[in-house]
Amino acid sequence: MTAWPPRPRLQVVDWTPARAAGVSVAVQRLDAIDPLVSGNKWYKLAPHVAQLQQSRAHGIISLGGAHSNHLHALAAAGQKLGFATVGLLRGHEQHTPTVQDLCACGMQLHWLGYGGYRERHQPGFADSWLARYPGHLFVDEGGMGREAVESCAGLSELLERALGDCGWPDFDQLWAACGTGTTLAGLIVGDGARHAITGCMALPHGHGIENNISQLLQQAGCSASNWRLLDGSLGGFARTSPELLDCMAQFTRQTGILLEPLYTGKLVLALEQALQAGELPAGERVVLVHSGGLQGRRALMPG
Ligand SMILES: *Cc1c(COP(=O)(O)O)cnc(C)c1O
Repeated sequence: MTAWPPRPRLQVVDWTPARAAGVSVAVQRLDAIDPLVSGNKWYKLAPHVAQLQQSRAHGIISLGGAHSNHLHALAAAGQKLGFATVGLLRGHEQHTPTVQDLCACGMQLHWLGYGGYRERHQPGFADSWLARYPGHLFVDEGGMGREAVESCAGLSELLERALGDCGWPDFDQLWAACGTGTTLAGLIVGDGARHAITGCMALPHGHGIENNISQLLQQAGCSASNWRLLDGSLGGFARTSPELLDCMAQFTRQTGILLEPLYTGKLVLALEQALQAGELPAGERVVLVHSGGLQGRRALMPG
């Protein structure tokens, strides 16, 4: 049983807005590392799985919503690697495609309601579940935290090693989507202030992403300042617009790479807007991190 996720491929794409600006774009395909365990959530989970393998524990408990990419990756990893999984879900029982997959992977589900879910920050919450499921580890919502930052920092090294895939000697800019900012913090730490990094936020300013990243960087002893955040949220989490859906459809048509509307679609739209505004010099090489989440498309895409 091996916990470590494989090296994601780097794929150069031919995409009209980039070509028009004389900019080269390559996509780091975290969405394509495994048919089931996809995206940045795998890298955030990997240290917990490694801890499980080094301890006597045989299962992992975590939390999320009925479309959660995090619970999906956890359930799939449990099935693939042979450990038990318990999902504590927000709200009341629903049968989304995600929930069907959780059940199919053998995850034990508990619907906590909304009030019950809010109690997750109360002292003793994790302990009460650990008492009910002895021999399990408890992983926070979304797989946040210091270990996840370290693990995501490893993505930079995997990226360096994959540059040969597309014959690039180096790149100039790295663009990635942010929810909690944990993945971006890891990318910043791993990059060691060598490239310009842009985080595209799936939530508007004021939802704590900036603070979270600053705190995680501080914990990691990283003082890099070669990064910035853009608000890609369209005004709130999970908002869409005809422009977003058009941009996603065009990108997929031209590159063959699927996107989802919460994170990666907004990332591509933000890059398109920056390209159209002439913000990137011709000749620039940009790496886009495809953080996965495609399982969520089934319930989230119109039509
Ligand atoms: C969770 C998620 C993100 C955000 O990751 P953070 O580490 O919370 O910033 C980005 N993209 C996808 C597809 C995700 O599922």
